Amino acid sequence: MSDPSHGNLEKYLYPKSNYKWEDAPDPAKFSECVHCGMCLEACPTYQQTGLEAHSPRGRVYLIKSVAEGKLTLNDFFADPVNTCLDCRACETACPAGVQVGALVEEARGQLYKEDPPAGLRGVLHKIFLRGLFPYASRMRKLSLLTRWYQRSGVRFIARKTGLLRILPKHLQEMEQALPNLTTKPVLGRIHERLAPFGLKRAKVAMLTGCVMDAVFADINEATVNVLRHNGCEVWIPPSQSCCGALHVHAGDRDTAKQLAKQNIDTFLSDDIDAIIINAAGCGSTLKEYGELLKSDPEYADKAHLFAEKTVDVSSFLDRLGLIPPKGRLELTVTYHDACHLAHAQGIRVEPRRLLEAVPGVQLVPLPDSDRCCGSAGIYNLTHPEMAGELLDRKMNDIPDGCDAVVMGNPGCMMQFMVGVVRHNRNEQIMHTIQLLDLAYRGEETSTEAERAEHSKASRSQAS
Ligand code: SF4
Ligand code: SF4
Repeated sequence: MSDPSHGNLEKYLYPKSNYKWEDAPDPAKFSECVHCGMCLEACPTYQQTGLEAHSPRGRVYLIKSVAEGKLTLNDFFADPVNTCLDCRACETACPAGVQVGALVEEARGQLYKEDPPAGLRGVLHKIFLRGLFPYASRMRKLSLLTRWYQRSGVRFIARKTGLLRILPKHLQEMEQALPNLTTKPVLGRIHERLAPFGLKRAKVAMLTGCVMDAVFADINEATVNVLRHNGCEVWIPPSQSCCGALHVHAGDRDTAKQLAKQNIDTFLSDDIDAIIINAAGCGSTLKEYGELLKSDPEYADKAHLFAEKTVDVSSFLDRLGLIPPKGRLELTVTYHDACHLAHAQGIRVEPRRLLEAVPGVQLVPLPDSDRCCGSAGIYNLTHPEMAGELLDRKMNDIPDGCDAVVMGNPGCMMQFMVGVVRHNRNEQIMHTIQLLDLAYRGEETSTEAERAEHSKASRSQAS
């Protein structure tokens, strides 16, 4: 429950604060920092720059300085705040439990109002955050348009004539790395409640995610299939919206709140056991709706209830007790910890347990598996240099002999796909659920010979 006196206390403690708008960085969060520096080596931007201002401790200090009136919301403040990946690696390392990610998001909210994004950032915000992501129908059209682009021969002409060179380098790489969109978005296509295969164990609703459903609808289909194999009745509410994660990360909290309210009204309209999400970035934001809407008298409690019901699909299956697939996949894979699964939600062992439950799969460790890959929402578009350096480090860490790199977040998947193209690698980039789905589909084949054929097909898909 929110505390209505909180804002007044803030003004009393920090009368000279230069934060002017609602949701200012919370003193209860920044005053916990004891400046011990144990977070420094965990921070990718500090590792890359060696600058204190670009470390978690430095950022917390700057955020506090604005509250104390020692600093204004100027460029000196904005640069370190905006270059933070919001990866939360510092939170895992911090013994005092300082919520650096939330502080940075709140600080960005103030910057967003003080000085709305301009230039390339402004254009990206307008096109993607305000114009596309909040509208499922537009995302669906974008997905269909991309399918047409890939299939009609326009892509061939665009590549052949060098037309794509007008795009920034990272967008060119993304275009090259984008998988062929073979599946239409599931939101609005699958209306009916899908019955479980076998005995019913749970009744769940699934949030499809805007980018996930537009680019990786096959993963959403795989998620539905795996859930049904595990005894779940699955509902995909048609009136759901984008979760607002990218808006929170960018500081556009007003839009994020509108989207959160739409999802709360939609998902709490039925008595379900869990709200399932298969994208780490979305899941982390959904679980923080209570914090986002803490000052909203109508939604604060509902937001907490929503957050309690939200669970990442890997964690849900692990908790429910996975019905192990019988289909065999002869694959060597490594697992990348998406920041918003490992650091923000503490989900590390569950996906690995699921992968190890697939017959034939050999899981090999990825060094520094929870170091950010540089994707971080639209960070790879707004800060391509830093994102590129982090991606290169990540690609160099992939152990030899892997058929696939597996993870649980669409943003990371896109970033790794760019890495595969850039580094001329062969690894397949897969979601944990895709691998499970392949194994369940494999068990539907009846004979040994067919299983062997399926395993061979999976290997060729993963190479
Ligand atoms: S954020 Fe945490 S780890 Fe970093 S300096 Fe402050 S107390 Fe120490
Ligand atoms: S969230 Fe990531 S980039 Fe930002 S301060 Fe923490 S460790 Fe550094």
